[in-house]
Amino acid sequence: MAYPGPHEPLITSPILRQASRILLDTVFPRICTACEAPMEGTGQHQGIAVWLCQACMADLEPIEPPYCSVCGESFGGPMTREFRCSNCDGRRMAFDFALSAFKAHGVLRELIHHFKYGRDLSLRGVLAEILKPAMNDPRLAGEDLSKWVLVPVPLHFLREMRREFNQSWELCRMLAGMTGIPAVQALRRTRLTSTQAKLHRQQRLDNLRGVFALRRAFPWRPQPDLNGRKILLVDDVLTTGATAHECAKILKRDAGAEKVVVITAARG
Ligand SMILES: [Zn+2]
Ligand SMILES: [Zn+2]
Repeated sequence: MAYPGPHEPLITSPILRQASRILLDTVFPRICTACEAPMEGTGQHQGIAVWLCQACMADLEPIEPPYCSVCGESFGGPMTREFRCSNCDGRRMAFDFALSAFKAHGVLRELIHHFKYGRDLSLRGVLAEILKPAMNDPRLAGEDLSKWVLVPVPLHFLREMRREFNQSWELCRMLAGMTGIPAVQALRRTRLTSTQAKLHRQQRLDNLRGVFALRRAFPWRPQPDLNGRKILLVDDVLTTGATAHECAKILKRDAGAEKVVVITAARG
């Protein structure tokens, strides 16, 4: 995958970096971000293992092929050809396809809950690391992702004021740091919507109609030109895809984006 690579780290020498990691892990022994159990080993962890213990990592259920070629919903049985799930069959989604890294249950569901509703911003690192494998899909393998743009699903500003951050934007910022793909807040929510959790798919679509718009440009905050650009739309969880559909519609119709691929940490 063509990443421009992560930002230059503070300590550039790999040997010094490893030494500082071991020193830090010795002075402040690591505990698991999810269950707070002490972690074994010092300094040698990478990726999700930096954050989670063996037991919590084993609880993560990756979404692997075969999955729906539109919404990324995994299919239980063997399937050799490309397929669409019953939710997507016969429907036109504004996004090109959606990819989720893991199923939204157990440890991952808890982490996302604490992140959003417990306002625990410290979880953005582990959740971005959990989201990253969603980008391993073969359909993105030939792409130069450094030319793409990360765009978060926006929160209404009143909700963001209460939560103190937009979880999708925080994930975007972490991913931008990890991959070098630029991140930009291109969308806004024009009104507060009631929670989607208890609504059926059609109700969700009705509830969201006209809710999203492009963020306005101001002299002190110019908006980038997304015309002809390819976009990774980032969110924590994908459920019915109604939110992603509405966001992708605006990005394509109003901003002229060429392609919108949805990436989320979890699939609800
Ligand atoms: Zn754990
Ligand atoms: Zn589907």
